[in-house]
Amino acid sequence: MKRQLLIGIDLGGTTIKMAFVESDGDIAEKWEIPTDTSEKGKNISNDIATSIRKKANESNIPIESFIGIGMGAPGFIDLDEGYIYNAVNLGWENYPLKEDLENQIGLPVFIENDANIAALGEMWKGAGNHSDDLICVTLGTGIGGGIISNGSILHGTNGMAGEIGHITAIHEGGAPCNCGKTGCIETIASATGIARIAMEGLENHPNSKLKKRFDAGNSLTAKDVFECAADNDSWAIDIVKSVTHHLGLTIANLANALNPSKIVIGGGVSRAGDQLLDPLNVVFNQYALPRVSDGAELVIASLGNDAGVIGGAWLVKSNLS
Ligand SMILES: [Zn+2]
Repeated sequence: MKRQLLIGIDLGGTTIKMAFVESDGDIAEKWEIPTDTSEKGKNISNDIATSIRKKANESNIPIESFIGIGMGAPGFIDLDEGYIYNAVNLGWENYPLKEDLENQIGLPVFIENDANIAALGEMWKGAGNHSDDLICVTLGTGIGGGIISNGSILHGTNGMAGEIGHITAIHEGGAPCNCGKTGCIETIASATGIARIAMEGLENHPNSKLKKRFDAGNSLTAKDVFECAADNDSWAIDIVKSVTHHLGLTIANLANALNPSKIVIGGGVSRAGDQLLDPLNVVFNQYALPRVSDGAELVIASLGNDAGVIGGAWLVKSNLS
């Protein structure tokens, strides 16, 4: 059979990750280029098309071998038309990304929200292990979410399904969130949220290991919190307990509604591994219905930065074959 390749793209505010992916999901080539956000992002789709042609040429792959492009993009997306309504960090407003890129490269283009393609990638080739009912939670600078139900990404009535990061965790007096509300789980369990909690408590924990780290470097990260917790610092341990309490409750509530078989935790914070997963499991089992927790497994995402490009490739495959 003729070799058919998929192109997966993960469009971010600083880099564009791209990959040629075999029809079984294995990556044949992957590379990245910087995102040119100048002039309201008007060069982005041209840069992508040029870079794909160049890489195909270098790899001796005729352009006819590609069947389509699947892309994850930030911002609010009109899925039928492939419009990006608003992606502040790219400078796009009502940008016809799908049409523009299709015109530049002559291949069909499919676009999804970037958190959703990460979920699709983990489902297809990662820790999601082909689960048809999966919740993916990405704990990065913010919290991204993707929900797969019956094998399909949930979009909701106007594309907002899966905004797990903005589930309210603290209903009064919570920290302000980027979305304009306060107390969202993103303000607590994202890398930014964990670092914020650590910094805000330093005054009350002057003898903690976290305070010593802060004094040495004048800043703290989520990684510092997990490392100090592993080193038995009681303030850091309290933070991990509080973060996993709120996150475990949020995930259990979601699971009671969705009854997933896999809950995939990704993003930079997930590098804490069992240090995150163990307390999270305890809280999850406390709040999820017994049959729900029996059916669900919490796992750490396994594809890392490749989840987006693999999910993008899956998007092409699922739409065209
Ligand atoms: Zn929010």
